Amino acid sequence: MNKQPYNQQLLDFIYQSPTPFHAVKNMREILEAGGFTRLPEETDWDIQPGGRYYTVRNGSSLIAFIAGRQSALESGMRLVGAHTDSPCLKVKPKPELNRQGYFQLGVEVYGGALLNPWFDRDLSIAGRLVFDSGEGSLDQTLIDLKRPVAVIPSLAIHLDRDANNERKVNPQTDIPPLLFRDPDKSVTDFFEFLAKELSSSGDLPEKARILDHELYLYDCQKPALTGMQSEFISGARLDNLLSCFTGVQALLEAGDQVSCMLVCNDHEEVGSTSACGANGPMLQSVLQRLYPDPGLLTRVMRQSLLVSADNAHGIHPNFADRHDNNHGPRLNEGPVIKVNANQRYATNSISAAMFRHLCEKEGVAVQTFVNRTDLSCGSTIGPITAAMIGVQTLDVGVPTFAMHSIREMAGADDAFNLYRALRGFYNHQSTLTIQET
Ligand SMILES: [Zn+2]
Repeated sequence: MNKQPYNQQLLDFIYQSPTPFHAVKNMREILEAGGFTRLPEETDWDIQPGGRYYTVRNGSSLIAFIAGRQSALESGMRLVGAHTDSPCLKVKPKPELNRQGYFQLGVEVYGGALLNPWFDRDLSIAGRLVFDSGEGSLDQTLIDLKRPVAVIPSLAIHLDRDANNERKVNPQTDIPPLLFRDPDKSVTDFFEFLAKELSSSGDLPEKARILDHELYLYDCQKPALTGMQSEFISGARLDNLLSCFTGVQALLEAGDQVSCMLVCNDHEEVGSTSACGANGPMLQSVLQRLYPDPGLLTRVMRQSLLVSADNAHGIHPNFADRHDNNHGPRLNEGPVIKVNANQRYATNSISAAMFRHLCEKEGVAVQTFVNRTDLSCGSTIGPITAAMIGVQTLDVGVPTFAMHSIREMAGADDAFNLYRALRGFYNHQSTLTIQET
């Protein structure tokens, strides 16, 4: 695929994926169109050499793989990791607030969201609903209202003259979004109200009663190419749907000789410890099904490589002092190898050299990031997965601005170049590691 259609599909994917549930649903559709078959976790798996498969847990984490015709004992496994979740606002279990005649929703902050950019945006609601169908059965559905239904208005500067110097955001009191006027307090149960709305639009059966939910607010504005030469991508959830999409597209182009896998976990932004997070058993249980003998699994893992793809911080021209002088990745100058002495990133010299070598062959430029020594470093699924399955790991990602904002920014060349690198990785036929001496 060429850069232009690639970027257009990336933007569409992000727009259609306001929550991890939607991201996984969309990845499933892309994979199935590419010949991948679903393996439900609760069934026995019959895996054929050369077969293409995927499995899903919680509707929000996905593992896809190609069972290579070559023995993984000879050629190892090529793994790519990413995460499906992004910082955002989550609707509380009992969210109803009525203040000054306005109906508002109580929200929790999911992950390390940058809160200021959430003000004055046209917000919509999406997520998973579990409902009683009215016919005696329990069912679930994904919803996405698409249209703007909520806003968190800023307080005018006239009422807070210090706003530009020292405005703080209290997440309990300052960010409940406004949905509609309700001076008579007629809506006391938001989910009853929502069920009626969804039934009338045909998105929920007429007698359905919502029993529980995971609903999220998101920005309605579509992701877009921006900049005078359209050299940037701006949109919500670039961290880390950009890497999920890139991993899927690269996997679609992998051959059937060597074993390849894509792992997209939920819950990275909240620490990864969950049944479907990277610090949980999902990946290990899939690998154990492929290689039930523990000795065999260890031998395969020792010859495998995980490329954990998660965005990096590009050096910001207005805040350049936040970076180490020698390690300020720039947008559109290539994917970034992320290094940290304290194992916040799992990269080591062997995994980094492997990737550099691969990118040289593909003609993809590579940059390096290490944090300022006096700033603490973020982390990602790379080191967690490395610790869970003992695989040699590399942390990479495209450089971005405004990480964890409601609208982030990346280079329009970088996503495509990461795709080229990952496609080269999945199709790399020779060994992946340098043997222990
Ligand atoms: Zn991330």
